[in-house]
Amino acid sequence: MSLRILVTGGAGYIGAHTVRLLLEQGHDVTVVDNLSKGYRHNVPAGRLDVLDLADTGALAQLMREKRPEAVIHFAGFIAVGESMREPERYFANNVGGSLSLLTAMVQASVKHVVFSSTAAVYGNPHTNPILETFPIQPVSPYGESKVMVETLLGWFDQIHQLTSVSLRYFNASGADPAGQLGEEHEPETHLLPLLLRAVITGSPITVFGDDYDTPDGTCIRDYIHVNDLAQAHILAVEYLLGGGATDRFNVGTGTGHTVMEMIRVVEEVTGKKVPYVTGPRREGDPLSLVAAAGKLRTKLGWRPQYTDLRTIVEHAWNFAKTRPIESLP
Ligand code: UDP
Repeated sequence: MSLRILVTGGAGYIGAHTVRLLLEQGHDVTVVDNLSKGYRHNVPAGRLDVLDLADTGALAQLMREKRPEAVIHFAGFIAVGESMREPERYFANNVGGSLSLLTAMVQASVKHVVFSSTAAVYGNPHTNPILETFPIQPVSPYGESKVMVETLLGWFDQIHQLTSVSLRYFNASGADPAGQLGEEHEPETHLLPLLLRAVITGSPITVFGDDYDTPDGTCIRDYIHVNDLAQAHILAVEYLLGGGATDRFNVGTGTGHTVMEMIRVVEEVTGKKVPYVTGPRREGDPLSLVAAAGKLRTKLGWRPQYTDLRTIVEHAWNFAKTRPIESLP
């Protein structure tokens, strides 16, 4: 069945991969993005409406025209460190923008939304793997902004019967296997694209701390392939359209890898040494974040395809090595 889906933030990394998958699966997609972070070249021609989420009236008008069955909402700021310096921008954009979107959905009678949430809602969990029922205790305005939107979603369900799935992402990584799309944040703060840049440019990356209580002293994360993450959004839309109730799901593989393991795999895949230095811990970094991902598998039938770290790195490398070196900082 072909669906009409409105995607906010569809010019960004995860949004663009999801748009591509939706189109491949025969759905009709409209992208809303203000291009403050995303890239026009990520969106197929004729699909993009350059709009800011704050413009409730324009969003409602667009939804009345396009009549989407569901919204997938990616648009938002994503940098934890930046949110510690400029919390007001994170609350205004992530919470204010989402509230405006939900208001427009109510005005246009659009009843379902899939929301980009994050493992950062759990803060520093007391143990791993992390279940959806663990305490919600974010340690940054970024994480808090996502908690606040999950809370809004609960009220919009109760009062307006707008149902939602919040997907709590672990570490999105990798790239479209065909090498057309990939991760291009500016500035880049994420481990894998920074390691690949270090290989390309020869300037060393800093490993943030090697004195954690882990097998090699570096932090553990659950790296989830961006296409598997994208597929979770499509399953979530189908779940909601099938009458599924508002819910929250982790999206991760259930397996953790240290920073040093990632460096080793990057060296194997690229055939080059990763130049790195060891520095102090990064403020706010939890020692380990690994998902218990059984709920998504059981309730939504999610089956990740690319769980092997090497495949994730290969796909990211296929994309990164095509970027002109002068475009890298
Ligand atoms: N990391 C690092 N050096 C960097 C960037 C990240 O050592 O330049 C580490 C970071 O401490 C964390 C892991 O890599 O343990 C993943 O960090 P990233 O920023 O990619 O994602 P996060 O887990 O913060 O969402």
